[in-house]
Amino acid sequence: MQEQDKAEKDDFVYFVDQFGDIRILKYRLPDFGSLSLNQKTQIYFLSQAALSGRDILWAQNFRYNLIIRKFIEFILSSFSGERENEEFKAFLVWSKRVLFSNGIHHHYSQDKFKPGFTELYFRSLIDGCDPGRLPVQDQDAANLTEAICKVIFDESLFNKKVELGSGTDLVKASAVNHYENVTQEEVEKFYSGFPDRNDPRPVSRGLNTKVIKKDGKVTELVYRSGGLYGEAIDRIIFWLTKAMSVAENTTRRRELELLVSFYKTGDLRTWDEYNITWAGNNTSDVDYINGFIETYEDPLGKKATWESVVDYTDRVATRRMEIITANAQWFEDNSPIDKKYRKEKVTGVAARVINIAMLGGDCYPASPLGINLPNADWIRKEFGSKSVTLANIAEAHDTANRGGGLLNEFAATTGEIVRAEKFAFLSDSLHTDLHECIGHASGKLAEGCDPKALKNYHSTLEEARADLFGLYFMLDPGILDLGLLPCREAAMAGYDAYLRNGLLTQLVRIKPGKNIEESHMRARAIISGWAYEKGRNGNGIELFRKDGKTFVTITDYEKVRRYFGDLLKEIQRIKSEGDYEAGRKLVENYGVKVDRELNAEIVERYEKLGMAPFTGFVNPRLVPVTDESGSITDIKVEYTDDFLGQMLEYGKYYSFLPVV
Ligand code: ZN
Repeated sequence: MQEQDKAEKDDFVYFVDQFGDIRILKYRLPDFGSLSLNQKTQIYFLSQAALSGRDILWAQNFRYNLIIRKFIEFILSSFSGERENEEFKAFLVWSKRVLFSNGIHHHYSQDKFKPGFTELYFRSLIDGCDPGRLPVQDQDAANLTEAICKVIFDESLFNKKVELGSGTDLVKASAVNHYENVTQEEVEKFYSGFPDRNDPRPVSRGLNTKVIKKDGKVTELVYRSGGLYGEAIDRIIFWLTKAMSVAENTTRRRELELLVSFYKTGDLRTWDEYNITWAGNNTSDVDYINGFIETYEDPLGKKATWESVVDYTDRVATRRMEIITANAQWFEDNSPIDKKYRKEKVTGVAARVINIAMLGGDCYPASPLGINLPNADWIRKEFGSKSVTLANIAEAHDTANRGGGLLNEFAATTGEIVRAEKFAFLSDSLHTDLHECIGHASGKLAEGCDPKALKNYHSTLEEARADLFGLYFMLDPGILDLGLLPCREAAMAGYDAYLRNGLLTQLVRIKPGKNIEESHMRARAIISGWAYEKGRNGNGIELFRKDGKTFVTITDYEKVRRYFGDLLKEIQRIKSEGDYEAGRKLVENYGVKVDRELNAEIVERYEKLGMAPFTGFVNPRLVPVTDESGSITDIKVEYTDDFLGQMLEYGKYYSFLPVV
């Protein structure tokens, strides 16, 4: 099974499509075949539930989104005119961007898309379609065409999905569909006193409702069966109930019962109870998210958008984590830090690594990279939370980036390229694991040291400490003995990638004239800059220019490892002793300022590669295999390379909400 999986990975083509500022990839389901039939069936049912809520998000994002999508589907599937000219191509790009963003506003900038074609042309497309397939019939159709043309083409209307600026009525200025006919002031008055600060377990009042004014009174429409979005919620309930029938234990069954009950009533106490059960359920290899969860798309931060993912444990990565945490004390005892700051007894923190099997709602097509839920602080404190990283999504990003020419452009030698292609993903994963599982957990403070002594420099220095821990041990022969890397070359690939990123490629994210602000980026700049200062002039690291381009290469890996060890020792000392002044100097000297010329060069080289800044995914198709009696005997995975095809398929089979 393992060999077969490896072969599949080597031939897998991740790239699917590119348009506007978007790149579409597909992700792989590693070892899906080795899951039990019961687990596969559960994944299938939960995936159907994940796809069934798609319309909810479209409607939430903006109230005209669903009808506009129906018109796009109508034109794409029945327009009989010329499709090869520039105008139709422009319509195609706009359509793909709308389909990607689950609506007519950019998923990141929140701005309404400007179509690259005229209103006249749009009307001619509708006229060139089969009227029998119009999304709405009778005289409504003409009125609707007028309305959506206004919505799409009038630049004075609905320009921002979520307005966060100050000095304006944020509710009125946002096109997002959480409020109707109400002002910000009315909404704030309506929710005054919520959440209740005196309640140790406050309910997230308003999380799953739309606020409207009815007969002059402000009131809420609840998302539930029989309520707002009820038709789609009923389909979600149907599939969750199916999943209940194959739940592998009573905790999972109880959890799904609570979720179904929440969808039936909209009761947020039930939602909290569900989250408590879900957060504590670590007994299953199959897991999922399904509900109204994140509140980023509401200018007031109360209303949650609908989202879902289905996932299963990544066994290879989880095994790696287990080896690391089982050997946590060995790492601590062999760490290059001062003996008096080593922990006598250290326990690693095991995080879960998962593979995504289906993305839905606000997680599709743009996927998260990690998940940390539930959101309610009191549940996290009292009952814990789940924190996971998404292995197959990260793998797709990583492989596609290298294929996109990033490595060829920035690697200094062909040796580095070959090494990176073989090992960079593995060494990067191991580095993340060492950073998270034991890097942050390692070391101790001197007696009486104030843990907040490093103040504003704390998080940068803490990230640098965890990164250095991972870097130092990556090249330790002990890593090979533990079977965490196959060979020394893999660690070398990790070193190459780290310095290349820290000294060069991460500058692509710095706008001209700006400094480095984000703490992980600052940490990388400190480590790389400090190591380079030691390693220059023939001491292990060369920065050189060729054909007007800057490159970095390592000439002595053992020396570089020693620099990492020395800096780790110093940063641990700074933390253990609360030496603010030394910490400040380190951050300010190496972690903040950027070389303006180099910054401009990196941005220019990156732009020439033509890589889209945003990435999304098509889902695999999960297909049940049944016997003569109709029982499921297997679930097959099919991959697609057709973004638009998947969008039209979802529009056809998973659209449950009325459009008007
Ligand atoms: Zn960290």
